[in-house]
Amino acid sequence: MIRINDQAFEEKRDLLQLSYPKQNIEYFYQSPQVKAIDAERRRKVYMITGEGSVFLVILIVMTIMMNRSLRREVKLQQVQKNFLLSITHELRSPIASSKVAMQTLLKHSALPKDKIETLLNNSISDMDRLHTLVENLLLAAKIEDHSFRIGHDACDLSEIVIQVVEKVKETSEVERNFELGVANDVMVIGDRSGLTSVITNLVENAVKYSVEGSKISISLNDENDKVIFRIADDGLGIPDDEKKKIFQKFYRVGQEETRKTKGTGLGLYIVEKILAMHRGTVSVRDNAPRGSVFEVVLPKVA
Ligand code: ADP
Repeated sequence: MIRINDQAFEEKRDLLQLSYPKQNIEYFYQSPQVKAIDAERRRKVYMITGEGSVFLVILIVMTIMMNRSLRREVKLQQVQKNFLLSITHELRSPIASSKVAMQTLLKHSALPKDKIETLLNNSISDMDRLHTLVENLLLAAKIEDHSFRIGHDACDLSEIVIQVVEKVKETSEVERNFELGVANDVMVIGDRSGLTSVITNLVENAVKYSVEGSKISISLNDENDKVIFRIADDGLGIPDDEKKKIFQKFYRVGQEETRKTKGTGLGLYIVEKILAMHRGTVSVRDNAPRGSVFEVVLPKVA
């Protein structure tokens, strides 16, 4: 473009030169007409360079934006695929095992009492899992469309923590070594079922992401106008670059196809959102020598 511009101006100057008297040719290049042509040429060069740079910047910005949105789209598709795989598995396995238990009971009417009890207890824990899953899905949907309103009940958090731990112990297939340091009568004003869901998700995760017989330490205390709940496990731990992401909806560490643990990636999303509605926070850090510590801080009055 600049070359074409230069050529055009050179031709203009040559044309002007033809009309210039031959004997004054040495003054030709100092003449006001030639200076005007040169100034005009420089102005055009600046204009072309300016326009070119703007165009280039726009092109670069658009490429970066398209790249980002493409990456977001790919990530979203991956998350959706993971969610579909996990939810299908989460629904299918308790339904299938309950069906097998019922068919066994139907076929073998003379089963020993302890065998019947085991089959029924397994079915009850399958139903509990389905119940938690459906509750989490409903809660996430309500949070998403802003229809979840928190209650303002006087909640005895000490009681909630103890009840949740008992329930998780009852329904867990494998044992954990729980260490409780729960102060008595820690009260908060908030939503009882929401806070129960927060504690349940954190306790269930500590069990799910640790190995049989490992230690899970739980503490609950109030300090001035705040309540602090901590849960530390000796489990898998969470890499630093995943610590923020795990609170996103449907996010699970690793790939669904290779994962051994069950889940939907909704638990911590719900935990964070419900706590935010109570003006509370949740954070995670490494436990020593391994595992994670989740800490919840809540104001006594939400
Ligand atoms: P889910 O357990 O259904 O996958 P969550 O939202 O509760 O969903 O957790 C998101 C992810 O965070 C989990 O998939 C897991 O990778 C990680 N995570 C949560 N809690 C723990 C924990 N105590 N130890 C190790 N990883 C954890």
